[in-house]
Amino acid sequence: MASIGSVTRQIAALEITNNGKKPAGASSSSSSSFRPGHGKQPSQNVSKLLTKFSAPNPFPNTKPAQGSSLRHPTTATNATTHASSSKNSKAQPPGPLDIGTYDGGLEADEEKRGERVTGEAAEDLALDSSVSGKNPTREWTLHDFDIGRPLGKGKFGRVYMVRTKSEPKYILALKTLYKSEIVQSKVEKQIRREIEIQQNLRHPNVLRLYGYFHDEKRIFLMLEFAGKGELYKQLSKYGSFSERRSSRYIYQMADALIYLHGKHVIHRDIKPENLLLGINGELKIGDFGWSVHAPGNRRMTLCGTLDYLPPEMVEGKAHNERVDYWALGVLTYEFLVGAPPFEDRDSVNNTYRRIAKVDLKWPKDRELSPEVKDLITKLLRHDPQARIPLTDAIRHPWILKHNKFRESDA
Ligand code: ATP
Ligand code: MG
Repeated sequence: MASIGSVTRQIAALEITNNGKKPAGASSSSSSSFRPGHGKQPSQNVSKLLTKFSAPNPFPNTKPAQGSSLRHPTTATNATTHASSSKNSKAQPPGPLDIGTYDGGLEADEEKRGERVTGEAAEDLALDSSVSGKNPTREWTLHDFDIGRPLGKGKFGRVYMVRTKSEPKYILALKTLYKSEIVQSKVEKQIRREIEIQQNLRHPNVLRLYGYFHDEKRIFLMLEFAGKGELYKQLSKYGSFSERRSSRYIYQMADALIYLHGKHVIHRDIKPENLLLGINGELKIGDFGWSVHAPGNRRMTLCGTLDYLPPEMVEGKAHNERVDYWALGVLTYEFLVGAPPFEDRDSVNNTYRRIAKVDLKWPKDRELSPEVKDLITKLLRHDPQARIPLTDAIRHPWILKHNKFRESDA
């Protein structure tokens, strides 16, 4: 059984650099407007103890774990060998560090997807946290992990639950991205930016990226393991959330957004599909595909999911971090009602119109508290400057009513 001390050491080991500099940070993936159907929550088999302490928690003075010192990317061949060797993960004794059974998906992919990428794109995608100038980590390769159960499929590759082979063993989500598919979708700069943005983020409600590395065909992201999976699946399962549960999520979300905006990061793609849950049910923002670094910047690009777009983006106007305030209002409504406020399943144009008019209607079949209606109304203001600031939103009566705060937080 893992002790608390060993668990914290596990966390620390990942953060350590080769040269005593500061460790690297966080990440997740790109975005999508696809809304998956109702699905079941993936089964959990990780000890509460481990995950309880797996939240971001830098320990810069701890020594790194022993591991591969390969400087060069792993080749497709030896990566495959490694994955095969861990295919029989059934043979491993079950215990607090059980990562489930590997399905051979990396080899299956290896046969049919991914080509070598050359030229400028290859340079853009030669992503390795051990050599990243600002916050280098130790060197990692696929050989350093035992691969466990599949966690999901992303646009550019599969995501697995993995454990570091070397002591102290640590559980992560390893996300693979096929370089050639990234190039095909012409998002190499976007992926690079996403990783660059996230490597510096540390907040309990922002999914951490502990490190990343690549081989000839793939990029691997070492992500914080979100033990309770996708929030969207929970929302699909229950239809909607109680005010108490919603209020707790919205508080965590607002707190994470305050942090991100403080770092001049606008998320721009807030929606339930981009949110994961930690083992204790805490919210984790993932998917930074549409984020922009925006120091005093007003961006004009139209992006994000339709239902969460604010009026200024629908109208093609300049926008700033207050797009995330609007999206927080839409998210609050969707948590409680089970559908976003301006949705029109038959007409995209009508959704746009409803957003531009702020055509907000309360559901007839569900009684919402006056407090939450007040907060939603204050977030969903047409004029971005009129939206309630997040620092006020986290002190709103609806938040205070459902969240326990220590006096020092007030
Ligand atoms: P999509 O466009 O479908 O969102 P994507 O490329 O953004 O794909 P992700 O959403 O990051 O990929 O990952 C695919 C799935 O893998 C997720 O929906 C989730 O179920 C699972 N997953 C991803 N990251 C983690 C994680 N850190 N912990 C647990 N599960 C994860
Ligand atoms: Mg995703």
